[in-house]
Amino acid sequence: MPGSLNDPDITTLMVERIRKCPNCNIYSLENACKKCTQSTVQLKPPKFSLIDKYASLRRNLKKKDLRKRELY
Ligand SMILES: [Zn+2]
Repeated sequence: MPGSLNDPDITTLMVERIRKCPNCNIYSLENACKKCTQSTVQLKPPKFSLIDKYASLRRNLKKKDLRKRELY
């Protein structure tokens, strides 16, 4: 069984759902901002810095995984 943290589908799903309030500049998963009720906008993945964070997180996980395997 693959670990759920290593499942690339989870990252993709999360990223696709992330929206941003243009008014408060805060990220949200809702269609409307919780703070000011302004409609949030969907972010375009390549410009979204959190993707890089998740990507590096996944790279780190992969590295750890590889390191573990090399030890066996
Ligand atoms: Zn807002």
